[in-house]
Amino acid sequence: MYEFAVTPAVTQIRRRGVTITEVEPNSLGAELELEPGDRVVRVNGRTVRDYLDFRFQTGGETELTLDVLKKSGEEWEVEIERGEGEDFGLGFENIAPRQCANECLFCFCKGNPPDARPALFFRDEDVRLSFLYGNYTTLTSITEDEMRRVIEQRLTPQYVSVHATDLKTRAYLLGVEEERADITEKMRRMLDAGIEIHAQVVLCPDINDGEILRKTIEDLASEYPRVRSVAIVPLGLTRYNTDERLTPVTPEWCRKIIREVGSLQRELHARLATNFAFLGDEIYLRAGLPVPGRGHYGDYPQIEDGVGMVRSFQEEFARLVRRLEKNPPRDSQGLRGTILTGRLFAPVLSKLIGKLNERHGMRLKIVGVENRYFGSEIVVAGLMTGQCVLAARGEIEGDFVVIPRTAHKSDEPVMLDGTLLDDLEKQLGLPVRALDFEGFARMFA
Ligand code: SF4
Repeated sequence: MYEFAVTPAVTQIRRRGVTITEVEPNSLGAELELEPGDRVVRVNGRTVRDYLDFRFQTGGETELTLDVLKKSGEEWEVEIERGEGEDFGLGFENIAPRQCANECLFCFCKGNPPDARPALFFRDEDVRLSFLYGNYTTLTSITEDEMRRVIEQRLTPQYVSVHATDLKTRAYLLGVEEERADITEKMRRMLDAGIEIHAQVVLCPDINDGEILRKTIEDLASEYPRVRSVAIVPLGLTRYNTDERLTPVTPEWCRKIIREVGSLQRELHARLATNFAFLGDEIYLRAGLPVPGRGHYGDYPQIEDGVGMVRSFQEEFARLVRRLEKNPPRDSQGLRGTILTGRLFAPVLSKLIGKLNERHGMRLKIVGVENRYFGSEIVVAGLMTGQCVLAARGEIEGDFVVIPRTAHKSDEPVMLDGTLLDDLEKQLGLPVRALDFEGFARMFA
């Protein structure tokens, strides 16, 4: 059992080793009398900086020596012989992310309300998290040590925010000097070492669209398949980011981007047998157009970045509908509740849920919640806050409320504005279920 979680670093001071936070009963770790609070400092004489080092240095080894600093202060040397692939049954402390040193025009931190939780202002730029969770980095401040580590430990794939291959434009967007913005050599070094890259472009009207976007896509595609894909997602402006250099995204602009990138996708597909450059769902929805079909996305390489999420949801929903046709839900007529989502996705979801209501007699209502916290321009479900839900309470009907699972922290039932789910339930006087698709499908079991 290896457990990762990420919390913002409260301190940059690095202690030696990595702290054990959990030991599974009857596991190898328990047998070795390791306990939560102990620190593994070295493995076979090599320093351990974090969980990834532990995994890398123990991987494939059957004979190991661990230097452990016990929580009592004792220093232990633990000799181990383990079976091939035998798990230690240990959980470790969170990785403390490195911060970025950029000043991006569109940084989400500039879009936060001034009184937002401090965690929302944390700007991580960490190749370890890129490998573990698909977090994007810009590579502008990657150190030689980090670069070597990516290569040596094969932290592949890496997710890189390229934004533009035109250097002037990239430097302008990131708010750094050109020398630092230039990551050509860094990317080449990774690619030559067999590290795959998924790239991202945050597309800002009149800055990195048009010819600059075409060049960016072409430059990256020339490295396919080592650069696996490019996600192109639109600038998101909250009411707090009022930088005059940024132009808001409009439906007309989205339609233009779909046309332009569409013709490039056709060329790329003929050449590479993949569309390679994928537009974020938000661009299609804002344009008022349907998202592309299943085949467009291949193996959904950038789904976590909101690319293909809607199509994938529709596919899963279709499977659920087929399942319910065979095994109709029990007491479906008693299923009365309100499903809250972002304004952009609400029409899509309404259509899907409408069919279920019609077929099985449920009374599920969809409400597209206006984002009052970040501003009405923010239309995605994951940024819904407790305040937004309470403001929409007049539209809530039925016996329960569903909110998207992504609208609260992964490890705590708290929403972006600090609202606890318990408090939300009390104020609404109804149970609130925070569900992903699987949880949603289980409602009909
Ligand atoms: S890289 Fe840019 S957008 Fe990301 S956290 Fe840093 S400043 Fe913000």
